[in-house]
Amino acid sequence: MKKAQRMAFLVLAALAFLWSIGSQSVPAVASAEISGAEIKYVALTFDDGPRANTTGRLLDGLLKRNAKATFFLIGRQIETNRDLVLRMKAEGHQVGNHTYDHLELEAINPTVVAQQIGKTDAILQNLLGEGTYWVRPPFGCVSATEKKLISQPMVSWSVDPEDWKVHNVNQVVTSVMKHVAPNDIILLHDFYATSVDAALQIVDQLQAKGYEFVTVEELFALNGIAPQSGCLYRSAKLNKTVKTGPQQ
Ligand SMILES: [Zn+2]
Repeated sequence: MKKAQRMAFLVLAALAFLWSIGSQSVPAVASAEISGAEIKYVALTFDDGPRANTTGRLLDGLLKRNAKATFFLIGRQIETNRDLVLRMKAEGHQVGNHTYDHLELEAINPTVVAQQIGKTDAILQNLLGEGTYWVRPPFGCVSATEKKLISQPMVSWSVDPEDWKVHNVNQVVTSVMKHVAPNDIILLHDFYATSVDAALQIVDQLQAKGYEFVTVEELFALNGIAPQSGCLYRSAKLNKTVKTGPQQ
């Protein structure tokens, strides 16, 4: 090949290369913009754990799918499952307080309420470090008087497939898929193997619809809601379903 031919060949090859980069980058940018506009956020929450033979499998599945969740733990179950709780924090999940003995707060006196929340909070502060560990009252119930005693934000849920009652993967998945909307808080229990299976299917199906799974704390921040102590929140939908204070 003569020098002039070689130069011409190199110039053409360089142009072809630049054109190929340019043609690839256009659809990549466009699809990123489209998917960015369609992101819908939702929070998956798990109560009554940790439990050795179910929670670990759930964490594996969530990690594989890059989905974050929130775990409301029963205090008395933490000591024997410390590794799972440390793993939750290390993998970006939010950890919260579901009392020490899973007592129905409205049925016990205020001193015991404070003990149940305080004991679990101390265990979490010790194990995971200083922080605000949100509270989920067992059964979602807390009286107006008790709200005044609790210094952490409290959260219940807006989508409840009653997984603890039905123990049926398909029923749980179908119920959640039927009722869920952006900014909902979904209630499940990692205590049951069927709920773990259902949770991972829910993640797969909602991710395919453009949902991103974030922690409750992140969901509130994304919606510009600053959580207040002593308030029980039901979802991160500002206008309709947030319960805003001890008066409710
Ligand atoms: Zn519970």
